[in-house]
Amino acid sequence: MKKLGTKYIHAGANPDPSTGAIMTPIFQTSTYVQESPGVNKGFEYARSQNPTRQALEEALAVIENGKFGLAFSSGVAATDAVIKLLVPGDEVIAAADMYGGTYRLFTKVFEKFGIVFRYVDTTDVAAVKAAVTPKTKLIWLETPTNPLMNITDIAAIAAISKEAGTILCVDNTFASPYLQNPLDLGADIVMHSATKYLGGHSDVIQGALVINDQALRDQLYFIQKSCGAVPGPMDCFLVLRGIKTLHLRMQQHCINGEKIAHWLRAHPGVSKVYWPGFEDQPGYAIAKKQMRGFGGMISFELKKEGVEEVNRVLSSTKLFSLAESLGGVESLINHPATMTHASIPREERIKNGLSDSLIRLSVGVEDAEDLIEDLKQAIG
Ligand SMILES: *Cc1c(COP(=O)(O)O)cnc(C)c1O
Repeated sequence: MKKLGTKYIHAGANPDPSTGAIMTPIFQTSTYVQESPGVNKGFEYARSQNPTRQALEEALAVIENGKFGLAFSSGVAATDAVIKLLVPGDEVIAAADMYGGTYRLFTKVFEKFGIVFRYVDTTDVAAVKAAVTPKTKLIWLETPTNPLMNITDIAAIAAISKEAGTILCVDNTFASPYLQNPLDLGADIVMHSATKYLGGHSDVIQGALVINDQALRDQLYFIQKSCGAVPGPMDCFLVLRGIKTLHLRMQQHCINGEKIAHWLRAHPGVSKVYWPGFEDQPGYAIAKKQMRGFGGMISFELKKEGVEEVNRVLSSTKLFSLAESLGGVESLINHPATMTHASIPREERIKNGLSDSLIRLSVGVEDAEDLIEDLKQAIG
């Protein structure tokens, strides 16, 4: 098997047969001319097939060590497709601490269609096992979680899922395929918000699923084409381009993340730092086992409590821009309670350990010294 960098650069890359163009062209077309009814070149209508999307989907499969990739118009559209595998009465075991938009989709959209969601602390393998019922059809994991960096043992949950005959889907957005490959650990579906590390340049919204099983792929492809949440060819081109530098960017995200996590931990104004690479962090041993590095996502709490202090820091950084999202080359700072996770009711959030004073960083690939200097002047 090729090493990661080689794989990422050559994934889905085939010179265009009509011109030899080394980069897959942006096939900006809605339909394809047929020779006679039913006689075509494998492309009929662009919701069903598009060559730029096809190249990307091949690349997605390669980088997640899967057989099939499917691209969607956003990360939540990819999640939506997975839930549409289910029927009313089916149960889902979902992580108690996960991306706010996933929680909103589950509770506000799919509950009313009769899908039952059970929120469980998935870092507790026994609790997941205990939550399985004969109606459980899907287990939904996110690891590391957003924003508290909780680590779930994917292989252990995969064993429970196999025994129960359920589908295990892992949201691998935070780790990216460079740091973690859930299919290798027994998951059935890997989900990505390609908006984040795969795209890598904060210029596209997109989602992805990667699958090994042909029948499951066919069901998901049917949903992709029938519900129509497909990405446009320009967006597919951008994510294909992003994938080619994923390894270079992730290496720098990891280096910067480690430096900043340690610097924050040593800062007298910071009370707690969440980063999966600390040896005394719960989940460290599992992170070490299932990840190749610890990434550039860090959350922290200030010693001085209160909204004013948090707001002061959030509005004082100059390199870290105050914005939702993550995984781009530029550094971002975010307040989960009022921004990315505002869709989770306050009591739920607090119960899961997400306080009003938590600050989340998406550490970019700038020079770590400049980023630290920026945090220093902001925190004081
Ligand atoms: C952003 C994000 C999503 C949703 O993806 P979109 O591309 O914004 O629709 C899902 N999961 C995680 C972990 C995310 O960070």
